Amino acid sequence: MKPAHYVNGVFTTAGTPFPLRSPVDGRQIAAVPEAPRETVDEAVRAARAAMDGAWGRSTTEERCAYLRRIADGIEARFEEFVAAETADTGKPRELAATVDIPRAIANFRAYADLAYGRPERAYPTSVPGWSGSGQALNYTVRRPLGVVAVISPWNLPLLLLTWKVAPALAAGNAVVAKPSEETPSTATLLAEVIDAAGLPAGAFNLVHGHGAGAAGEHLTAHPGVDAIAFTGASATGSAIMRNAAAHVTPVSFELGGKNAALVFADADLEEAVEGTLRSSFTHSGQICLCTERVYVQRPVFDAFTGALAERAAALRGYGPMISAGHRDKVLSYYRLAAEEGATVLAGGGVPEFGDARDGGYHVEPTVITGLPQSARTVREEIFGPICHVAPFDEEDEAVRLANDSPYGLAATLWTTDLSRAHRVAPRIEAGIVWVNCWNLRDLRTPFGGVKASGIGREGGEYSLDFFSEPVNVCVKI
Ligand code: NAD
Repeated sequence: MKPAHYVNGVFTTAGTPFPLRSPVDGRQIAAVPEAPRETVDEAVRAARAAMDGAWGRSTTEERCAYLRRIADGIEARFEEFVAAETADTGKPRELAATVDIPRAIANFRAYADLAYGRPERAYPTSVPGWSGSGQALNYTVRRPLGVVAVISPWNLPLLLLTWKVAPALAAGNAVVAKPSEETPSTATLLAEVIDAAGLPAGAFNLVHGHGAGAAGEHLTAHPGVDAIAFTGASATGSAIMRNAAAHVTPVSFELGGKNAALVFADADLEEAVEGTLRSSFTHSGQICLCTERVYVQRPVFDAFTGALAERAAALRGYGPMISAGHRDKVLSYYRLAAEEGATVLAGGGVPEFGDARDGGYHVEPTVITGLPQSARTVREEIFGPICHVAPFDEEDEAVRLANDSPYGLAATLWTTDLSRAHRVAPRIEAGIVWVNCWNLRDLRTPFGGVKASGIGREGGEYSLDFFSEPVNVCVKI
């Protein structure tokens, strides 16, 4: 498989190719076509034509059947998907095989179930003084939005792409997707699976390329796009929103985070340390839900911090940063932390392997402490394997510290006090709060962030709501 666009049911490699490098050792592994504006235009036209044709008239049952065929198609090529995701991202194979690809399959199945079983509302209305029965029946039907642009990031490439594509298709929209320029491969495989599943031409289109000034911007600024579903950095969300404003295009945004973990003295310390190790260092911190700020109640601060640092230093096989550019950004924060006066408890540098991996984009899992809440390292999203640990004394103080952030995506509470968990969780300014766990996901639950972490909620009915418009039909009886 070579990265290719998929437009109107045809694979093409229009545009100048750019090199794709392995994050593990820096070798070139593919050439990716950069979609020119004409290819984006063609994809939007094809999507519109699909909405005006058979796809636009398809029933929910038909679309759900397509979604199940797509899920089966990914499953049948599971190993190819795992290999492609691992090659593009450099993440451990285990992660791709247990999270990324199974979740992508689950996304299609979950939205097939949800869309099929979805009830609509009806309101019987009495209107005194009317001739006839004096009754009316209001009922709501849902129309697709039309042509939906899906823009996705590189950290969980297929998982986050399908998280939007599946509900968008289930709700009856036509999609033009642009995956991250860093991770084109599983998106291309998905297009092959969708092609084999027999979706009408134009219902799903894929264009590759960069964001600003390129395919991503052309797509999101396109007047033929009816809605934009975007996952990525908050600054990119602002740029997309500026373009979307010109046509009042609705947006659903899942953006950055600076997620806090609160460890109370009554927590099961072993669970809290293991959980925080996972929440800070899974995929080398390159998951939007990863913890970068840890607040620990003072009586257990030293014990917790010592154990976390010891285990972080012992981590192996954690995978590289996605690119040289991102590695440099993360290392610039390691330097900034030192300049700001942090004490480095583990990591802080670049590991040496003595083999080809030294040409890759690796950084060490890092635990720091000693910074004030105002430090840039504590306020800005780094998106790497680093967390800052700070002490607190009182519950109110912990809540205040967690909420003292421009972001509000996710938070984790570690406590064995049930009342405390229920008391604190709703006070946290975040879209998702986990208690004594992390990244435990049920696809029906609302997913998204507050403040700079996003606009709207996806997941379950929330996604189907975004990707459709309710239309009220009022019938006089
Ligand atoms: P990014 O914003 O740089 O890129 C994301 C996508 O947007 C890519 O496909 C890119 O090509 C495109 N893009 C970039 N500039 C654009 C523009 N001006 N117009 C249109 N498209 C443009 O993000 P990234 O580096 O790929 O991903 C990391 C970021 O994503 C982090 O901030 C992370 O927190 C966030 N993220 C959030 C979630 C969530 O669910 N909230 C999930 C994963 C990642």
